[in-house]
Amino acid sequence: MTKKFIKLKSEDLSEWYNDLVVKAELADYAPVKGCMVIRPYGYAIWERIQSFMDKFIKEKGVQNAYFPLFIPESFLKKEKEHVAGFAPELAIVTIGGGQELTEKLIVRPTSETIMYEMYKKWTQSWRDLPVMMNQWCNVVRWEQRTYLFLRTTEFLWQEGHCAHATDQENQEMVQWALNLYKKTYSDLLAMYGVTGIKSETEKFGGASKTYTIEVLMPNGKALQAGTSHDLGQNFAKSFDWSLQDQNGDKLYPYQNSWGLSTRSIGGLIMVHGDDNGLVFPPQIAPTQLVIVPIPGHEKAIKLANSIFDQLKSKYRSQIDDLAGETAGFKFNKWEMKGVPIRLEIGDKEADIDSAVVVRRDTLEKQTVKIADLEKTIDQLLIDIQSNLLEKHQKFTQDNTFSVDSYDEFKKIMSTTRGFISAHWCESADCEAKIKEETKATTRCLPDGQKDEAGVCIHCGQPSKHRWLFAQSY
Ligand SMILES: [Zn+2]
Repeated sequence: MTKKFIKLKSEDLSEWYNDLVVKAELADYAPVKGCMVIRPYGYAIWERIQSFMDKFIKEKGVQNAYFPLFIPESFLKKEKEHVAGFAPELAIVTIGGGQELTEKLIVRPTSETIMYEMYKKWTQSWRDLPVMMNQWCNVVRWEQRTYLFLRTTEFLWQEGHCAHATDQENQEMVQWALNLYKKTYSDLLAMYGVTGIKSETEKFGGASKTYTIEVLMPNGKALQAGTSHDLGQNFAKSFDWSLQDQNGDKLYPYQNSWGLSTRSIGGLIMVHGDDNGLVFPPQIAPTQLVIVPIPGHEKAIKLANSIFDQLKSKYRSQIDDLAGETAGFKFNKWEMKGVPIRLEIGDKEADIDSAVVVRRDTLEKQTVKIADLEKTIDQLLIDIQSNLLEKHQKFTQDNTFSVDSYDEFKKIMSTTRGFISAHWCESADCEAKIKEETKATTRCLPDGQKDEAGVCIHCGQPSKHRWLFAQSY
C-alpha cells in the first residue's frame, strides 16, 4: 500500500519532524522568522499539560498570577550573572506610542526580576513568607536557529517563583518542582528523563544551583526538558530585598524558580513518532479514540454512530464518517495524527456486532464484540501508555554508555551519539575543550550518582564521580 503522507523518520529525523508538525496541523511557521503559530491540535496538548501540572501546583499552595510582558532594563541589570546570561537573546523595545522611551523595555525572557521587585513591595516581615506564585505566559528569547516547538523565539511556559524564610524550605521546593516535571514526563507524556544537577557553566544565570530533567531524543541528542533553580539569596541581595526575621534581624529570603515549556511538545513528537506519523500516549492525546466506518457501508455507519454516542462521554473521541475519502486514506490520516486507538467498522463487522480495534503504537489489530469494546479500550489505553514509556526508557538505557577513554567518547559523539557517563574533573576549561572537540556538553550529575574515584576523561586529573554528557538541542 502506498500511503506516505509524510517524510520518513527512519530516513531523516529532522525533515520528518518539520514535515509532520506542519502536516499534522500541530503548528506552523509564523510570518516573523523564529516564531510559530500553535494550531488547535497542538494547543490541545499544551492545555492538557497545563491542567495536569496546574492541579499539583495549586495543591502545593502555589497561586497563579500574571506579571507584565515588559521589564525595565534597569531591573534586569541588577543581577549581573542573570543579565549576562540573557543579554545575547533579548528583544528590546525603544519606542512606545511614537515616542523614544526614557528607559528601554525588555520583552521578558523570564520574569525573576519583575516578580521579585513586586515581592519586595508586598512583604515586610517573615510573616509574609513564603511567597509562592506561578504564571502561565509567553517569553521571548531571540534565537538564531529555530525549530518548531523545540526552539522558538517566542514560546509558552509556566514559571514558578517562590521565596522562603529558610533554606530548608527553599531546597524542598526546588526538589518538589523537579519531581513535578519528572512526573509530568513519565505519567502524562510517557517519556523517560534523567534528573540531576547542572555544572557551574551550564546553570541558570544568577542561580546557586540548577536542577534539570534531560530527555534523550531518537538522534542521540539530549533535550533539556525542564529546570528548577535554587536561587539562594542571590536575587534578594541584588534587589536589596530584606525582611525582619522573628528576632527583628535582617532576613534575605531564599528563592527558587522553575519552568517547563512548549518545548516538551517537541520532545513528545520526536520520542514517540514513527514513519507513519505521530504516536500520542493516551493520557496526553487530544483524541484518544477515532471511529472510522467504511465509506458507503450504511449498516456500519449507523453502528459507528451509535458506538460514538455511547463512548464519547468516557473517552476523548471522534467519528470520521465524512464522505469523499477512501477508508485507506482515513486510516492513514488518523495514524499520522497519532490517535492511540482506531475502530474500523465495515458491514462485515456490523453483521457480527463487532469492530476492528487498531492500536497506534504497535499497529496490532483485533476484532472485538461491541459488548466488549469498553473493557478492551480501557485496557489498551493503559497498555499503550505503559508500552511507550517502557520503550523510551529502554531506548535511553540502551543509548547510555559508560566510557573511560576519550577516543571512545569522541567516536560515540561523532557516530551514534547518546548519553555518555564519564569522569570529569569539574573544571570549566576541560568542559569547554570537550565541547569544542566533540560538541558534547555536561548535561547533569545524575541524582543518586555514586561516588567513584576515577580520572577525568579529558585531562586525567582526579574525579569524584561520573557526569552525564550529550550533544544538546
Ligand atoms: Zn579535566
